[in-house]
Amino acid sequence: MMSTFKDEVLSRRTFAIISHPDAGKTTLTEKLLLFGGAIRDAGTVKGKKTGKYATSDWMEIEKQRGISVTSSVMQFEYNQAKINILDTPGHQDFSEDTYRTLTAVDSAVMIIDSAKGIEDQTLKLFKVCRMRGIPIFTFINKLDRQGKMPLELLAELEEVMGIESYPMNWPIGMGKEFLGIYDRFNNRIEQFRVDEEDRFLELNDEGEINEEHSLKQSGLYEQTLEEIMLLNEAGNEFSRDRIASGDLTPVFFGSALTNFGVQTFLESYLQFAPSPQPRESTVGEINPLTEDFSGFIFKIQANMNPAHRDRIAFLRICSGKFERGMSVNIPRLGKQVKLAQSTQFMADDRSTVNEAVSGDIIGIYDPGTYQIGDTLTSDKNGFQFEKLPQFTPELFVRVTAKNVMKQKHFHKGIQQLVQEGAIQLFKTVKTDEYLLGAVGQLQFEVFEHRMKNEYNTEVLMERLGSKIARWVEGEDNYDNLSSSRSLLVKDRYEHQVFLFENDFALRWFQDKNPDVPLYNPMDQQ
Ligand code: GDP
Repeated sequence: MMSTFKDEVLSRRTFAIISHPDAGKTTLTEKLLLFGGAIRDAGTVKGKKTGKYATSDWMEIEKQRGISVTSSVMQFEYNQAKINILDTPGHQDFSEDTYRTLTAVDSAVMIIDSAKGIEDQTLKLFKVCRMRGIPIFTFINKLDRQGKMPLELLAELEEVMGIESYPMNWPIGMGKEFLGIYDRFNNRIEQFRVDEEDRFLELNDEGEINEEHSLKQSGLYEQTLEEIMLLNEAGNEFSRDRIASGDLTPVFFGSALTNFGVQTFLESYLQFAPSPQPRESTVGEINPLTEDFSGFIFKIQANMNPAHRDRIAFLRICSGKFERGMSVNIPRLGKQVKLAQSTQFMADDRSTVNEAVSGDIIGIYDPGTYQIGDTLTSDKNGFQFEKLPQFTPELFVRVTAKNVMKQKHFHKGIQQLVQEGAIQLFKTVKTDEYLLGAVGQLQFEVFEHRMKNEYNTEVLMERLGSKIARWVEGEDNYDNLSSSRSLLVKDRYEHQVFLFENDFALRWFQDKNPDVPLYNPMDQQ
C-alpha cells in the first residue's frame, strides 16, 4: 500500500548527536546505521581523525570536507521510522554551523563518556538545545570500562546542565565487572556478553529475577536493586510531556563499541522522540502536515570541489513535499528559483533526491543565491520563518587586506561572507578596525580561503585570541568605557558590544559599571 503524505511525515525522526570528541559519536552512529541496514560494514562512517590541520593545509581540509559533507546527514529506516541523523562537527571543524545544525532537528541525542562525565563541547551544544526547548536523550557510553558512578553522573547532569533526568535503565557493575543493565522501562535485565537467547531476563512485579539465576549471587546485582529502589523513591518521575518539552532527559547506559544497549536505546528513542515539529513564521506556526512546501537554509557548504566552485545549501523541509525541479520563492529576494539539482546524503555517497517531505534534509545546489536563514516556500505570498538565533563568538581576529590596492574586493568579500552567515563582523569604535568573530578556528580558515578564491583578495589576520563578548542593551553611548581589557566594538547592525579579556575582566567591569546593561544573546533566545 502506498503510504500517504501524512504517514510519511509522521514517520520522520530528525536528530543530531551532541557530544565531546571521543565520547563515541561515530561508533554509535555506525551501530544505528547498521541496525537500519544503511551500511553493511563498520568503518564506513568517517571519523575525521586526521590530526591537527595547519592553516595552510586548507586544500587538505577541503578534501576531508568531501567526506564530511556526505556524512553531514545520514538517513536510515528502522521498523516504520525514517530517521535523519545530522552531524555536528567538533574539534577543528567546530563552527557556528555546528550550532545552527541544532536549529534543523526535532530532538538531540547526547552522548557522555562515563569516565569523563560532562565535557566542554557537550555543554555548549546542550545549551543551544535547551535554548530551543527540544527533547534531549542521553546515552552514557563505555560502560565496558571503569567510569564514574552512575549516581554521580546523574548528579552532574542536574548540577552542571540543570536538567532533570530519568534513568530508563541502570548498569549492573561496570568495566571488567560489567554484567548488564537493569531495564526499568521494559522491566527486564539485559545481560552483557551473553548469547541472544539467554540475554534477556524478565522481571517479576517486584522488579526482581524470579527463578534461581547466578546473577542473584552477585553483590553487584544487590547493589543495583538498592539503587533502583532509591531511584523509585527519590528520583524524578517518568513524564512523556516533560521529555517532549526538553525538561526531563531519559538516560540510557550502554556501550556503543560492544553494541550493548544500543538497540534498546534506538527503540525507546523512536517511541518518545517527536516527529517533525511546527515552526514559527511571520504568518504564525507552520504545520509540518501542511501540503504547501516550505523550508529554510541552515548551512552553506562552500567550494567543496575547487574545480567547480560549487556550493551546497542545506535545507530543512518544514512543510509539504519537495519534488525535484519544483519552483519556489525566496521571500528575502522576492524571486523564484527552480530546484533542479538536489542531493540526499548517505553514509558513503551522495545521490540525487527526487522527493522528500517535512523533517527531511536535502542539499541544493547554490550558485551564490542563498544566505543562511533563508526561507524557501511554494506559497506565492511568501512568509518567512523566524530568524536563526545569533551565537556568541568566542574567538577574534583583526583583519586587513594584504594588498591595499584591493580594498574594494576586500570590502565586498567581507560584506557578502558576513551576510551569508559564514563569520561575524565587528568594528572598533575608536579606530574603525575590522574584527572577525567566530565560535571555532575553522571559520577563520574558511573565510581566508574563500576571500582568496572567490574575491581574489589575500587577507592578513592577527589573532586576538578568545574574548567574552557581551552586547549592550539600549542606545546609550559607552565609548568612554572602552579599554584594552574591555574593548568596545559595534556589530554589523551598529549594536555596541564589549569584548572582555576574560571572566575576571568581565566581573571587574560589572562591579565598576553596574548600570551598563550587558547581555549574552545566547542566554536570551
Ligand atoms: P567520536 O569522536 O565521538 O566520534 O568518538 P568515536 O566513536 O570515534 O570513539 C572514540 C574512541 O572511543 C574510539 O577509540 C572508540 O573505539 C572508543 N569507544 C567508543 N565507544 C566505546 C565503548 O562503548 N567502549 C569503549 N571501551 N570504547 C568505546
